[in-house]
Amino acid sequence: MAERLIHILPEQVASQIAAGEVVERPASAVKELIENSLDAGARSASIEISGGGRGLIAVSDDGCGMSRADAILCLRRHATSKIRDAADLAAIRTLGFRGEALASIASVSRLELKTRRPEDLTGIHLSVVGGELAAERECAMAAGTRIEVRELFFNTPARLKFLKAPATEQSAVAEAVQRLALGNFGVAFTLNADGRPLLELTRARGALERIRQLFGPKLAERMLPFSLERDAIRISGLATVSQDSFPTARMLFTFVNRRSVRDRLVARAIAQAYATLLPRGRYPAVVLVLEVRPDEVDVNVHPMKTEVRFRRSNAVFEAVYHALRDRLANQSGAPGPAAAGGPPWPGRPARLPDADASRPLRLVLEAAPAAARPEQTALGLGYDRTAPASGRAATAEATETVKVVDDPSSINVASINPAAPTLVKVGPIVPVYSRLRIIGQLFAGYIALEGDDGLILVDQHAAHERVTFEKLRAELRNGGIRVQARLVPEPLELDSARAAQIQAAVPQLRALGFEVEPFGPATMLLKGAPAVFGAEAGVKLLADMIDSMGESGFELRGEQAFDDCLKQLACHGSVRVGRVLEEREIRELLAELDRTQFKTNCPHGRPVHIQFGRGQIERMFRR
Ligand code: ADP
Ligand code: MG
Repeated sequence: MAERLIHILPEQVASQIAAGEVVERPASAVKELIENSLDAGARSASIEISGGGRGLIAVSDDGCGMSRADAILCLRRHATSKIRDAADLAAIRTLGFRGEALASIASVSRLELKTRRPEDLTGIHLSVVGGELAAERECAMAAGTRIEVRELFFNTPARLKFLKAPATEQSAVAEAVQRLALGNFGVAFTLNADGRPLLELTRARGALERIRQLFGPKLAERMLPFSLERDAIRISGLATVSQDSFPTARMLFTFVNRRSVRDRLVARAIAQAYATLLPRGRYPAVVLVLEVRPDEVDVNVHPMKTEVRFRRSNAVFEAVYHALRDRLANQSGAPGPAAAGGPPWPGRPARLPDADASRPLRLVLEAAPAAARPEQTALGLGYDRTAPASGRAATAEATETVKVVDDPSSINVASINPAAPTLVKVGPIVPVYSRLRIIGQLFAGYIALEGDDGLILVDQHAAHERVTFEKLRAELRNGGIRVQARLVPEPLELDSARAAQIQAAVPQLRALGFEVEPFGPATMLLKGAPAVFGAEAGVKLLADMIDSMGESGFELRGEQAFDDCLKQLACHGSVRVGRVLEEREIRELLAELDRTQFKTNCPHGRPVHIQFGRGQIERMFRR
């Protein structure tokens, strides 16, 4: 093996590297050191810190180690084994590439570097103070590398001053480790702080298992796998069901070619995929794994490498949006169209495919046969229509399981590792409502159902609102909102102060399905209304819409704005809490709901149903 892999980048390459502060706090040093371990092919990395990283940061790995010559060289600026020339910058396959991290860390700390390659008999131990080599000796050690950083910023009081309380720095370190662990689920991690274990993560076979290790089974079980491959963009990930949400975006994790990044474009695509499913100001938990060819993404744009630039950002946006949106449209047991047609999750082996020939592990979806869909009726939700008979026993929709298998052959991992939990229950998240036994209506607003495993309460307004909203949206996509003409046009008196403004909004009202004509200075004639609401709806609905109209009429430019108007329309036109429903009406509503996409939430993001598990109820009775 060559004695030297590392070289100093020529000045003209070094100058093309996004410059800036690499190490600004303990967490960034930890991140750089772990990235080096990962680039060195480590299968496990352990991290120790004390005093929030100010006293000590130590990262040990079982990676490829370094020769004596490389160990000495790696501390120099622009010393790297990862790129050679400017052309390499255009297609980076490693996490590091600048040759700056170790030099920066060493120059502001007392650093011990111990490293041994598997083929060497002894390791080398270097002591470095403020960047100057102070001592060198041989040492006995297992193959791999251990770097200890003491008294970070001891010689730069200005930076020391900016450090936060040890507890704050410690949680930043833990968060950095968490991110790296999530993006590299095949690597074992441990994190100890002041002698106490904070994280102990064994090698995981997939992101789902890693999520369970990091965030507990409760969250993991309520996440939906999704995947999509198109335009040479591969997307896979896990996203929380839309009944769950968080007050901050902290649970959004994006990985681009194994690198944890914060990307506005991806965040926007995720937010748009969840549009109308979450209330304003609430965020999902999403682990999104994006893979593109290395030359499709520029990682050399940010000193800490936490941002990237996509060459085809539109295609990336579209792919992320559709991967998630298609999955969220149908969160019931059966996998959505994307999951069924796309590649199996996650398709992201612990390393880049060309960097390691080891067989990647994948999770595949296994779904029981999807329940037969109820007959599609072209009718709107008219409560006077005969409901389809459905007195069958209460059964939930096909329960989806995620099974861990070895890719590409279909060997169950259980045969490789018998201790492995191979089955993960993901569903059923949404039942087939019309198959559940109707217990009755509660408070004239909620439909009580007996589910397979508990009591389900459906918010009748939220349910109807979503049904109506999706119908309106579908009609709009198919050319326009269907209008039902009235036999007798009906006049609507207008508030004379607003009359002119309302008359000016006539074209917009028409686009929303109201056939209206000015009729004198302060009256409008309603000749037809959106068919979805049936013949009865009309003047009242129109009046409600006019009441909620803004200063400048209805904003109908752009899909988002149109959606907002449709939300209002669906809200005004939907059955209210407080209305007593006949069983026949309940049946019709449930059947409609079963046929509807995004049925988990009303268009404002409130949940359509809540569930009290049987166990939960039994516990309350102390059974
Ligand atoms: P970069 O990662 O950008 O190349 P660094 O300063 O982080 O720059 O590291 C310099 C070089 O030192 C790396 O290119 C690599 O060859 C070597 N190196 C650093 N850490 C390790 C490690 N844990 N195991 C093996 N080699 C390492
Ligand atoms: Mg590095």
